[in-house]
Amino acid sequence: MSEKSGIVILGIFAADTAYKAKRLPHIAETLMGSGFTLGPGGKGSNQAIAAAKAGGKVTFISRVGNDAFGAMALAAYAEAGVKANVMQMEGVSTGAAFIFVDEASGDNAIIVVPGAAGLIGIEDVEVNRAAIESAAIFMTQLEQPLEAALHGLSIAKRAGATTIFNPAPASAIPDSIYGLCDFIVPNEVEAAELVGHAIETDEQARAAAHTLVDRGAKAAVITLGARGAFYHTAGQSEFVPAFSAGNVIDTTGAGDAFLGGFATAISEGRAPIEAVRFGCATAAIAVTRPGTAPAMPSRAEISALLG
Ligand code: ADP
Repeated sequence: MSEKSGIVILGIFAADTAYKAKRLPHIAETLMGSGFTLGPGGKGSNQAIAAAKAGGKVTFISRVGNDAFGAMALAAYAEAGVKANVMQMEGVSTGAAFIFVDEASGDNAIIVVPGAAGLIGIEDVEVNRAAIESAAIFMTQLEQPLEAALHGLSIAKRAGATTIFNPAPASAIPDSIYGLCDFIVPNEVEAAELVGHAIETDEQARAAAHTLVDRGAKAAVITLGARGAFYHTAGQSEFVPAFSAGNVIDTTGAGDAFLGGFATAISEGRAPIEAVRFGCATAAIAVTRPGTAPAMPSRAEISALLG
């Protein structure tokens, strides 16, 4: 078999449109707002951009519509150096999230319309089979339909790629998926959903990681926000503290930054625990900047923080 290389990521793109106002609007009311931001979102898309900026050779598999948001996604991939195996569909919108934000409390209400990304299925994986089979790393999440994630993980695993599964957003998953994961990487909320108990203490994180490995994952990484991450595989367990890279401005997309950095480090052949540190450093920089994809750091910035 030829040498495997690169990172293939399957996931969704959604344009995040956020509207700030004094409070959330009532039904049938028009409210004047105080701020608007438009940015690229979607976990898979954010992870692809994070991995490419961190120095990974990344292919992103997804679907968008043939509209302004779709063009925005493709421009973001071109800028970050992500190879976009992204189908542009006619007659269906690009994924979009409509986020109302209460400016005082930060409370929000969100409508997500997956649009084209909601149609991602087994076919998308089949069309990209050759890319997945020749990749060193395959990574996916749960924002697109589960069957596509399962199919991608199965093909990658059979071809001998290293698989990274981010079970996000928190959802129930079939037990058969664990055996397809070289690394399962949930945050605390997602891990709690999977194991059925809260993850508030270090002991609970440790217990959850053990459960995920007992169910068949080769290794588990539970990200713990500002506390860092916990890594566990048979015979090795370690807490990795978070890095500090300055004032924390916006933690949205921290998990995606972590996964992008982690996948890049694994693709370069680093030991898993070193890859967890690399992921933590990537995320530590991202949280000092507003937004998600635009907040992802360059390789030089990550290397400087790692020292
Ligand atoms: P998610 O964004 O999915 O909720 P987490 O909040 O667990 O994920 O964050 C992912 C990673 O980002 C953490 O493991 C940590 O390394 C880093 N991180 C998150 N919040 C901070 C913070 N306030 N300071 C430094 N690093 C952080």
